Amino acid sequence: MKWISLLGATGSIGTQTLDVIRNHPDDFKLAAFSAGRNIDGAKKIIREFQPEFVSVAEKAGCDRLRTEFGSAVTFGHGEEGLVEAAVYPKADMLVNAVLGSVGLLPTLQAIEAGKTIAIANKETLVTAGHLVMEEARRHQVDILPIDSEHAAIFQCLQGENKDEVKRLIITASGGSFRDLSREELAHVMVKDALNHPNWSMGAKITIDSATMMNKGLEVIEAHWLFDLPFEQIDTILHRESIVHSLVEFRDNSVKAQLGTPDMRIPIQYALSYPNRMALPGSNRLDLAEIGQLHFQKMDKARFYCLKLAYEAGKIGGSMPTVLNAANEAAVTAFLEEKIPFLRIEQLIEKALARHNGIKHPDLETIQSIDAETRSFVRSLISF
Ligand code: NDP
Ligand code: MG
Repeated sequence: MKWISLLGATGSIGTQTLDVIRNHPDDFKLAAFSAGRNIDGAKKIIREFQPEFVSVAEKAGCDRLRTEFGSAVTFGHGEEGLVEAAVYPKADMLVNAVLGSVGLLPTLQAIEAGKTIAIANKETLVTAGHLVMEEARRHQVDILPIDSEHAAIFQCLQGENKDEVKRLIITASGGSFRDLSREELAHVMVKDALNHPNWSMGAKITIDSATMMNKGLEVIEAHWLFDLPFEQIDTILHRESIVHSLVEFRDNSVKAQLGTPDMRIPIQYALSYPNRMALPGSNRLDLAEIGQLHFQKMDKARFYCLKLAYEAGKIGGSMPTVLNAANEAAVTAFLEEKIPFLRIEQLIEKALARHNGIKHPDLETIQSIDAETRSFVRSLISF
């Protein structure tokens, strides 16, 4: 029996993680979880999974839950509550499916508390991958990827020698606007951006897929998870989202992991690793029915955010922190219909251009650069 603490339980990955737990009641149990503002969603989860500790974003939500459930459950809120859920003593594993760099502190604390980490929250690895991986090494804690591309690479690397890897090849569906020219992108609407062709995901990552920043964040995520230089991490367009990523070895042999676009597959693999379990309700991959798979070179001029991410990643230090914070602030503004789509990349570029990089930023420095970058981006939006 594995006890789980789940951050971001009311979100897209959170809900699918609960589905995996629900399907395997003898193997997984929910010890603690966090939600943001969706208090009705949190109530449903408490009734079904009866966890011991629950944290939500705000005190008002926390008070509502306390009134309803009394002392049967312990409640917390805000950043402190998020950390308390992450380090909850009964939990063996932290599944981090919260959105954004708010996931960094709870991840570091959970590593220190010796929890195995299953991570979907890529912003945490982008903003401070060096701190997360350093702490994981120091405390001998596994960081297991949930992001489908990284889960694919992780599976391809099982039983292999890392020194024999020539290249990681991360696939990208291209997002909602993959067939539009840059001129056409100038006028796209939020509702069109939210219409992803292959995956149903939270709003922020769906926009990141449309700008291709998601692939940029994933390149940086792969750099940290698999300890490879950016020169050995490539991306390729693959419309069908069937090949989830590939690894090329020194003998030019290439391994790939395939499957239907169903996030429960990588989520469950992280939970059950190194074993596999049946996945009720998921469709088998029928290649004969699909017939053809397509691959296409990535055009970095067309997908400018990917270029910015490679540049920030290669400079390293605090640059990826700025990239991530500027992107989070700009995407929020786009979702609130305060800026047009192409302004997202311009705001990120401006934030990067004014930043004097710091080589090995500590946690405090990262938190202050993150906050400062967000307010800089917001200051540009109000004019
Ligand atoms: P969602 O927006 O669907 O869910 C986000 C979750 O985080 C919700 O539970 C939300 O709470 C909570 N949350 C948001 N902001 C805060 C905050 N400030 N404090 C506390 N809780 C907060 O996102 P996704 O599930 O799509 O994505 C989660 C992470 O997983 C992201 O990092 C994303 O990049 C990554 N990922 C997602 C994939 C997907 O298929 N969705 C695939 C691969 C990676 P509430 O809703 O209650 O307000
Ligand atoms: Mg992904």
